[in-house]
Amino acid sequence: MAIVIAIDGPAAAGKSTIARRLADRLGFTYIDSGAMYRALALWALREKLDPADMHRMEQLAMAAWIELERGTSRVLLNSEDVTEAIRSVDVSAAASMVAAIPGVRRALVEKQKAIGAQENVVMEGRDIGSVVFPNADLKIFLDAQPEERARRRAAEVNGDRDSVASQIRERDERDRTRAEAPLTQAPDAVYVDSTGKSIEEVEDSILRLVRARITNGKEFS
Ligand code: C5P
Repeated sequence: MAIVIAIDGPAAAGKSTIARRLADRLGFTYIDSGAMYRALALWALREKLDPADMHRMEQLAMAAWIELERGTSRVLLNSEDVTEAIRSVDVSAAASMVAAIPGVRRALVEKQKAIGAQENVVMEGRDIGSVVFPNADLKIFLDAQPEERARRRAAEVNGDRDSVASQIRERDERDRTRAEAPLTQAPDAVYVDSTGKSIEEVEDSILRLVRARITNGKEFS
């Protein structure tokens, strides 16, 4: 049986950084489920489609060929490398619109389940512990104070903190209030607040949980 570590939480809480490091440390595959919603949103924007159009977006989700390259973390949409293109502000906003559509989620969740059935993964997103892998071996809900999340993301994208803060707020609001698979902490997830902590501190506290719950106290091989 493949091992699944689920890391969910709001935007810019540090999920990608932590999930990637954990996967490296454990020799697991890192899967960024958000990249799938982003790739689909990018396609919609390029085709000048409304990312809130349920019918068209569902068709697009079924037609999309999205690949997450192991090791390199490159994201391919219909064989094109879109790793950089999916990180724009417009794509972030559109991703959270397409992600509210049930048919889109059905299509992408199916892909995510197939990956997690085959290999040990650290998968990050919004609904990994609550919907995609309700039986995950370890579930983390990674959070941080909104001001800190805005500060970190603004530094990352070299942007203005106030506008980054409002973009994040808007996206989180949409992700938390949607009817289908809203962002929520699964009852059996461990809440980790990364506010004021270094990456190493957060990583260590999660590795302790891995040792306690998955490897029977042993170091990882
Ligand atoms: O994680 P990231 O910020 O790249 O995700 C982009 C958007 O994709 C989120 O705002 C959310 O709307 C959506 N998403 C989701 N479920 C996931 C991962 C991402 O709805 N498992």
